[in-house]
Amino acid sequence: MDTQTEYDVVIVGGSVAGLSAALVLGRSLRRVLVVDSGKPCNRQTPHSHSFMTRDGETPAQLTSLAREQALAYPTVQYLNGRVTTLSKNADGFALTTDSQTRIKARKVLLATGLEDIMSPIDGFAESWGVSVLHCPYCHGYEVRNQPLGVLITGEHTADYVGLIHHWSQNLTLFTNGSATLTDDQRGTISRLNVPIIETPIAQIKHEQGLMNAVMLQDGSQVDLTALFAPVPFRQHSDLAQQLGCTLTSTGLIQVTIVGQTNVPGLFAAGDNSSPMRQLAVASANGVAAGAGINRELVTEEVAVY
Ligand SMILES: Cc1cc2nc3c(=O)[nH]c(=O)nc-3n(C[C@H](O)[C@H](O)[C@H](O)COP(=O)(O)OP(=O)(O)OC[C@H]3O[C@@H](n4cnc5c(N)ncnc54)[C@H](O)[C@@H]3O)c2cc1C
Repeated sequence: MDTQTEYDVVIVGGSVAGLSAALVLGRSLRRVLVVDSGKPCNRQTPHSHSFMTRDGETPAQLTSLAREQALAYPTVQYLNGRVTTLSKNADGFALTTDSQTRIKARKVLLATGLEDIMSPIDGFAESWGVSVLHCPYCHGYEVRNQPLGVLITGEHTADYVGLIHHWSQNLTLFTNGSATLTDDQRGTISRLNVPIIETPIAQIKHEQGLMNAVMLQDGSQVDLTALFAPVPFRQHSDLAQQLGCTLTSTGLIQVTIVGQTNVPGLFAAGDNSSPMRQLAVASANGVAAGAGINRELVTEEVAVY
């Protein structure tokens, strides 16, 4: 990588949001470098759903076609690697990667996604995205009417149970310890005829991520084909924090509709800044950010014409 090259835009993260932005920026004649460390949040899931024209494809098929189409534009380049530092100076931005490549850019787009924090329950991480699921819009149809579990406790429990109950009435709620439920929540769950199991979970029994039972610490087991479990998350990269980006109360990067952060010239798009985690939403955010960045560059160029 030529360290003297100054790109119009460096896109950190070459998955759904990043490649959508790269396509728009390549078509806007911008010199773009996409840097990607190859760890999209959906990498374990065998099939992606609900993305128009691509329903049922693997995540890798989807992004490899997107990469091929973005890189067909001669001003778009791609680098495998992780951006480790990001700083701002009078001329723009300076970035370094884990292979010590130094890059300069007029604008930066963070399309770095989120990192889901796995429960320590044995078998949970291995089954994540395969049969331990979080989003019924992504994977609910495939397990409709099957024996399902929900693993959750706290204020959103009844809402989430009600949501998953729409796809299967053969449902069990696991709270993995004493449930902290209000009388109202218990009432809703009981009306839906969903049993509540408070016994802590010992293990998720699975074969290559495909679960067949939840094993409880008292030695009993509940046979299931999938477990819905919302998990906490954190930013996949600390680059936004390095530059002092404002985060929302839920830990997302605060952005405008075209992805502008509070740091001039720094944009964010996709899961790292969106309350709805869906391929189509991440792609739309990337497209909006690409257009927003080009608009800002054009405005600067016209001012000195
Ligand atoms: C298990 C699972 C299954 C899902 N299934 C579906 C589905 O079926 N349908 C659907 O619509 N949505 C699904 N989603 C949601 C969807 O995958 C996300 O909304 C989408 O991938 C977000 O795209 P993104 O580009 O913002 O982030 P990601 O796809 O997570 O990509 C971020 C990229 O940035 C890279 N990166 C991070 N930090 C750096 C750095 N410092 N330097 C370089 N690169 C970096 C990462 O390696 C990664 O490649 C699923 C999510 C999960 C977790």
